[in-house]
Amino acid sequence: MAIPSHVKYLVIGAGIHGLSTAYHLAQKLKATGKGDGRDILVVDKGGIAAGASGIACGVVRNNYFQPAMRELMAHSVGVWETDPEGYSYHPVGYMQISPESMHEDVASIARQQKEIGYESVFIEGEKDSMDYMKGLFHDWQAKGITSVLHEKRGGYANNTKAMYGLAGKAEGEGVRILTGCRVTGFKSDSAGGAIKAVETDRGEIGCEQVVVGAGPWVKTVWDMLELPKAISIKGADGNMHDNVPMWVYWSLQEGTLGVDPELQKTNDGKFPPVIHVDSNEPLYSDYDGSLITDKMWGIYYKPDFHFGGIQGGAAPYTVDRDPDDVAVDPYGVDSPDFVVGEDFAHMWTSALAHCQKRFEGQFEFYKNEPSGGIGCFTPDSFPVFDVFRENCYVIADSNHGYKMLGVGKLVAEELCGEKSRLLEPFRFSRYAEGKLHPVSHSPFPWS
Ligand SMILES: Cc1cc2nc3c(=O)[nH]c(=O)nc-3n(C[C@H](O)[C@H](O)[C@H](O)COP(=O)(O)OP(=O)(O)OC[C@H]3O[C@@H](n4cnc5c(N)ncnc54)[C@H](O)[C@@H]3O)c2cc1C
Repeated sequence: MAIPSHVKYLVIGAGIHGLSTAYHLAQKLKATGKGDGRDILVVDKGGIAAGASGIACGVVRNNYFQPAMRELMAHSVGVWETDPEGYSYHPVGYMQISPESMHEDVASIARQQKEIGYESVFIEGEKDSMDYMKGLFHDWQAKGITSVLHEKRGGYANNTKAMYGLAGKAEGEGVRILTGCRVTGFKSDSAGGAIKAVETDRGEIGCEQVVVGAGPWVKTVWDMLELPKAISIKGADGNMHDNVPMWVYWSLQEGTLGVDPELQKTNDGKFPPVIHVDSNEPLYSDYDGSLITDKMWGIYYKPDFHFGGIQGGAAPYTVDRDPDDVAVDPYGVDSPDFVVGEDFAHMWTSALAHCQKRFEGQFEFYKNEPSGGIGCFTPDSFPVFDVFRENCYVIADSNHGYKMLGVGKLVAEELCGEKSRLLEPFRFSRYAEGKLHPVSHSPFPWS
């Protein structure tokens, strides 16, 4: 495709947020008579799904301790449900299976799901939890579980297939997607002023509105926009905490057990919900019986034909390096630094066996291939959705975002002048104002 000299809307990134924004914006412009998809150009330095959206586990759930996250996720699940086939979405549900230290947090999630009409079942007590799980999987054996939250909606989507489905929908509305085009800078009339043009390695493109959906590269684009590297945050203690780095990288730990996905069917022969287990029980090796950890641990997993087995992950770890020194490229499975190793495989396959007898002795089928990737997180690990430099909408999802298909729809509405109540709790100003989200007892940074 020839590079245009000017477009009305320029979207950076052909991942879930860039594509969803482009698709929904095209629809919105048409419906309001303000234009259509031909006003929108998506540019990507790689291709469609070249970033985190193309390697994500693809879990779609509502289970969040923060009311604002939960409402936002309920909205996104609704968008996934509009076209399961087109989005390659499997609405199998989701289960949060927890120890006593998380009981109260999850009970409040269950209560609030009722309040917003999000269908779920909440089981409490060790015996009832075990009975419920055995009712689903006859070989369930994880001990120390005292609550089970079973979300009837949600599930997972096939990462790249969903992105191609979404890109097809956007292109069907007339949106142009220019791949192999890297944004290298921004032009404006005054320092820190509105963006007039985007500089790329294929030339300059004038524009009226920019949308940034750059996923793990958001820090690079943030730096190009000359936004602050460190910020002040008003903490829950009422004190100002200065000089907090704006971005921190985390490395996500995921892999696949290369067995027949049918192995993980439920007692009644169906494909199960996505399983997420957190536990305080000591975790022993399924390989040699040694103690892996006596600290809290967590895993998630699902049968997935797209990955060719039982795919899932464990809690991520922070990349303990100055964010300026972290190499995001080459990304994902091509990274020399951020793919999972033997420790992950050992822990995750042992945890599978801890939970279900059918996984005992299966570690040898773990697929020894690169997987996992890094994410770029905000200081509180919650998203920032906001406008900077007057006309640059930044979607920084803090790695929560594959499930957030609906965010692009809400961003499109905001671009057309309708303020979104659901996006309001995620403004950048929350840090200075101390309007932070509550923090849960989960070992994961995104619960
Ligand atoms: C291993 C892993 C598993 C995950 N699992 C889940 C999950 O199960 N559920 C969930 O909800 N979330 C999950 N996530 C998080 C989720 O994948 C991300 O939050 C989400 O995909 C981010 O979408 P995005 O559109 O912002 O970015 P991306 O999908 O990363 O897309 C950004 C795009 O921007 C392009 N780009 C970057 N810089 C430039 C530039 N300068 N010029 C032009 N183009 C540029 C990139 O090439 C890329 O294609 C996971 C993440 C990882 C890494």
